[in-house]
Amino acid sequence: MGDLEAVIGLETHIQLNTRSKIFCACKADSWGEPPNTNICPVCTGLPGVLPALNRAAVEKAVLLAGAMDAEAIQPLSYFARKNYFYPDLPKGYQISQYDEPLARGGHLELPMPDGTTRRVQITKLHLEEDAGKTVHQGRRRLIDFNRCGVPLIEMVTAPDLRSPDEAAQYLIRLRQLLRWLGISEGEMEKGHLRCDANVSLRPRGAAYLNPKTEIKNVNSIDAVRLAIQTEIERQTRETQAGRPIEAWTLEWDEDQGALRKMRSKETEADYRYFREPDLLPIRLDDEWRDQILRTLPELPLRRRARFTEQYGLPVYDAEILTEERSLADYFEAAVATYRGEAKTVSNWMINDVLRMIRERGVNAAQLRLAPTDLAEIVRMVESKQVTTNTGKELLMKAEESGRRPAEIVGAEGLAVVADERALGELAAEVIRDSPAQAAAYKGGKTTLIGWFVGQVMRKTGGRADPQRTRAIFEDLLSR
Ligand code: ZN
Ligand code: MN
Repeated sequence: MGDLEAVIGLETHIQLNTRSKIFCACKADSWGEPPNTNICPVCTGLPGVLPALNRAAVEKAVLLAGAMDAEAIQPLSYFARKNYFYPDLPKGYQISQYDEPLARGGHLELPMPDGTTRRVQITKLHLEEDAGKTVHQGRRRLIDFNRCGVPLIEMVTAPDLRSPDEAAQYLIRLRQLLRWLGISEGEMEKGHLRCDANVSLRPRGAAYLNPKTEIKNVNSIDAVRLAIQTEIERQTRETQAGRPIEAWTLEWDEDQGALRKMRSKETEADYRYFREPDLLPIRLDDEWRDQILRTLPELPLRRRARFTEQYGLPVYDAEILTEERSLADYFEAAVATYRGEAKTVSNWMINDVLRMIRERGVNAAQLRLAPTDLAEIVRMVESKQVTTNTGKELLMKAEESGRRPAEIVGAEGLAVVADERALGELAAEVIRDSPAQAAAYKGGKTTLIGWFVGQVMRKTGGRADPQRTRAIFEDLLSR
């Protein structure tokens, strides 16, 4: 038995953050709302209704296709009916796309730990509607139609992934990209990003594909990693025992941490696809397509690379600062006003601003502390107008009050006491009040210098310039 390698492909469903559903005017996001309160005859599939396509859903899908560098964003794509019976699918079919999807080809780039990037091919990207939700309550099955008709992008990768970690990495980067583009919240726990994984094994280096199983219903990145790992182990055992792998559909049981067989996998013929007769094709002329693609922002990995080149940041800093678009924007705005070392601003961002963002549960754009305020604080600290500790305090105060840092420094008297005479008087006072320490210092215990400086710090509320204070004490105590 030779060495085996895992062959993994992911099919993701992405919930778009449009205001209304894909074929009706119902609100798309009904998270936390009572069941069946956000529905209408169209999304519940009553007889005689007609769907009407939501333009914003198309635009968001085209934007993602552009970000994937799709080889073909089709000028003409069609909706199709995917027929199957399930209680939470009131029409008895899902409106999806099939033989002529919105886009084909493209790739998502994954940064590897060794600094290289790896391309995962995307085979196709299409639009479809979501189904409802079946809620299990003891022996009862309750149906919530709120989710019916929520716009989804289905995106399928080639079998390019080789390990559970790569699959997880793909989802992390995809989620980052969705938020970056502002087309989905990408919260797996809320079902904004759902993932099915196809898994098979083959001898390492082989070019053919063995029968695969499909893992459904994994709703966190950790669960994806664990479910794939579990399935790789099962297939390895089966293969080594000489048993064939059958094309099952498996369900990940989150509570048991185990895979369960749901059914033998459907074939495409089971869905009896045909063109949706109630909708016109999506006609995406060059002008509309270009207009959408012009809004594509610089993508995260590109921006990360630029941060290392343009600002001389370490990859570590660049990675953190480009995790989220508003954070990257904030950093660049702060650097532009600061005009000094970008790395200094980066340190403040990573150590202090990020902590504030997490504590507040907001994103960088929602902070009251503006990038120009951060730049001002960094400048005051670097030019020794305020101490580092005061700088950190200023961040919090500016965020809480919405006032400008310089204003706070003025109003609260936070500026560093660097005035020789003022410091000299304070130091003389300390020496007068502490004759024992002064004698000890003069007797050779010079490590006491820190204690003396500390006394002046206490008197000034931490605002004394430490170097000057130290020099003053050394001078006074050597007399
Ligand atoms: Zn509706
Ligand atoms: Mn689908």
